[in-house]
Amino acid sequence: MNKELHTIALFGGTFDPVHFGHLRMALELRQALGFDEMRLVPSHQPHHRQTPGVSAEHRRQMLALALEGCNELQLDERELDRPGPTFTVDTLEALRGELGDEVSISFCMGLDSLLTLPSWHRWERLLQLAHLVVVTRPGWKLPQRDSGGAHGEVADILARHGGKKADIHAESRGRLVVREQTLLPISATHIRHLIGSGQSPRFLLPAAVLQYIEDNQLYRQVAAGDESSDD
Ligand code: ATP
Repeated sequence: MNKELHTIALFGGTFDPVHFGHLRMALELRQALGFDEMRLVPSHQPHHRQTPGVSAEHRRQMLALALEGCNELQLDERELDRPGPTFTVDTLEALRGELGDEVSISFCMGLDSLLTLPSWHRWERLLQLAHLVVVTRPGWKLPQRDSGGAHGEVADILARHGGKKADIHAESRGRLVVREQTLLPISATHIRHLIGSGQSPRFLLPAAVLQYIEDNQLYRQVAAGDESSDD
C-alpha cells in the first residue's frame, strides 16, 4: 500500500478584500479533500488582471485579521515578499524547492481559471510541480474534447491528468482533481462597489476586516473597472 503523504493546498487570489466566499471555499476544500494544510496566498501583482484596489500591505493585514484564531487556514505571504508579477509556476517552484519531493502540493482554482490555463506562463510545468484542484459549481459542465480551441485543450489535460482525492494523498503532483462545491454568492468587486457607493457590506466579510476597512478608509473610490460590474 502507498504511504500517505503530507498534503498542502494553496488557494491564491487578490483578496481585495478577503470575504466569506473565499474563507468558506478554502475551509470546505480542506475538509472535503482532507488536506493537512490549507494556505491562502495573496498575490502581489497578478499579471492577468488589473491592479488591485488597495496596497499589498492592506490586503495582507485584512487576511491576517480574517484568519485570527482560525487553526484550519494559514496565511502564506511568499508572493507579497517577491517583487514583480506573480506567476503561479514560480510560487510552486519555490515551494517545491523548499519542501522537497515527498510532500503532496495542490494548487486550487475555480473552473473559470482552469479554462484560461493554456494561456498561463509555463502552464505545462504546473502539473510537474503540483496537483491542480478545480472547483466547479453544481450543474456546471466541464469542457469536452470536441469543443475545440482552449476548451478542447483543457479537456485533453483533464483526460490525461484526471484523478481523485486518494491520488492527492498517495502522489506528490501531476493530477487534476475536480470538486463540485456550492459557492457563496459574494465577490470582492461587489463589496468594493457597495463601499464606494456609501452602502454597507456587513455580513459579507468578517467584522474585523470591515472594521479595518473603515479605520483605513479603504475602497471609498469605486475603481473604474468596478462600476458596471454589479447591481
Ligand atoms: P474580484 O471580484 O475582485 O475579482 P474575487 O472575490 O473573485 O475578486 P479573488 O481574490 O479574485 O476574489 O479570488 C480568489 C479566489 O477565490 C479565486 O480562485 C476565485 O475563484 C475564488 N472566489 C472568489 N469568490 C468566491 C466565492 N464567492 N466563493 C468561492 N470562491 C471564490
